Amino acid sequence: DKAQIGVTGLAVMGSNLARNFARNGLTVAVHNRTAARTRALVEEFGDEGAFVPAESAEDFVAALERPRRLILMVKAGEPTDAVIREFAPLLEPGDVVIDGGNAHFEDTRRREKELRELGIHFVGTGISGGEEGALHGPSIMPGGSAESYASLGPLLERIAAKAKDGTPCVTHIGPDGAGHFVKMVHNGIEYADMQLIAEAYHLLRTVAGYSPEQISRTFRSWNTGRLDSYLIEITAEVLSHIDDATDEPFVDVVADEAEQKGTGRWTVQIALDLGVPVSGIAEAVFARALSGHTDLRRASRELPGPAAAPLGEAEAAAFADQVEQALYASKVVSYTQGFHQIRAGGEAYDWGIDLGAVAAVWRAGCIIRAAFLDRIRAAYDAEPGLVSLLSDKGFTEEIGAAQDDWRAVVAGAALRGVPTPGFSAALAYYDALRAERLPAALTQAQRDFFGAHTYRRTDREGSFHTLWGGDRSEVRAD
Ligand code: NDP
Repeated sequence: DKAQIGVTGLAVMGSNLARNFARNGLTVAVHNRTAARTRALVEEFGDEGAFVPAESAEDFVAALERPRRLILMVKAGEPTDAVIREFAPLLEPGDVVIDGGNAHFEDTRRREKELRELGIHFVGTGISGGEEGALHGPSIMPGGSAESYASLGPLLERIAAKAKDGTPCVTHIGPDGAGHFVKMVHNGIEYADMQLIAEAYHLLRTVAGYSPEQISRTFRSWNTGRLDSYLIEITAEVLSHIDDATDEPFVDVVADEAEQKGTGRWTVQIALDLGVPVSGIAEAVFARALSGHTDLRRASRELPGPAAAPLGEAEAAAFADQVEQALYASKVVSYTQGFHQIRAGGEAYDWGIDLGAVAAVWRAGCIIRAAFLDRIRAAYDAEPGLVSLLSDKGFTEEIGAAQDDWRAVVAGAALRGVPTPGFSAALAYYDALRAERLPAALTQAQRDFFGAHTYRRTDREGSFHTLWGGDRSEVRAD
């Protein structure tokens, strides 16, 4: 029997994905550059389903039914190009090559174009959920041609995570790089979510004076409400964990330097190119960068700051409720910014992305999975052209109710010298959007002063320049 799908690249992600297909009744061809991995997979998990091991690229391709569908789960970057170069000559028009690695969407656009010229469909696919997700059901974000999705979609639906209503968390995102773009923004939002949670923890620890165990309980209770999500759930788990070696709270023995693999950074780089303000995501990326500058931090330890004792018990409980409001409001802002970026990318590259469908595939399987995503989907379903998530009526009302507490938390943190870049940036974004007039008028006037960059006026059409160095009269500039 020929295999319906093949997986090449059998490190943790590829192996688990192959097993997921096999467990769901598909015949899966498996291949890896180093054949030992292929043998190990079949030896260890061969009884989970129908695997067809192949040691050479030729055997792998020959094992697949036509049109062939093969998933690359290899290291992103040059290794992906190397594998494409190896397989392309062995394939035929109509075959589908799926790249499930964390590729940059510009690379995906290039590869899609190159393979399209050979008649081969290239499907750059975002896969989220880590190794557990790959095995038990990831959230899947395929790009590529609609034609390729017609043959691939039903297979991906079998292995994808299922939302509470039973819908598989996979949808055709759009042509060429759309899937990897959306996966990139997913990761950017993930960075922001994690940063906001970290700030909430920091405030509860230092301002409320809570222990990690108390904060774990607080997060557990938040997880039963509107913040219900995988990241809040694992936060509670991490905070209640006690280190074996020292008997101290685990969070206290971990070095306070956060690393990154780069997808959050890409999100911000691309947002800068597109001119989309993703300040919350940017602060999250910078917060990780700052944490790693140990030399800078050591040199700054003596900088003066306020001294304040933690709050009393009753005040602390009230403060914790305020932090929940601030966390929720800031989270809504992060998602507003992330979806703005997806909309902007969709327009810039003509991808025709359905934002509600994106929210829907993030409901399960991925790292940012949350009850909250159902709300976002509903907002876009109700109004597909929604310019900003914040202007969805439900979110507007909730933020309206949260804003006093949000402001109190940000102000209180500033007075006590606790950094809250995520909460603060989110609030600044919110207030900037609300503002009737922004000081950008002054900025533009300065630009005209030193660089004759011209300005538009509020009272009539056209562009103008003031003769700053002369008699300061105004001239038309168009
Ligand atoms: P790695 O990223 O560590 O990649 C290892 C695999 O790539 C091995 O199968 C290796 O083969 C193969 N490989 C590397 N270079 C080459 C090459 N030049 N030619 C052929 N094969 C090569 O594995 P992961 O399983 O962690 O991730 C796979 C992909 O999935 C990556 O793109 C990653 O970014 C992405 N991803 C990972 C997630 C995760 O949680 N780990 C989540 C979502 C996506 P060999 O055994 O011969 O060395």
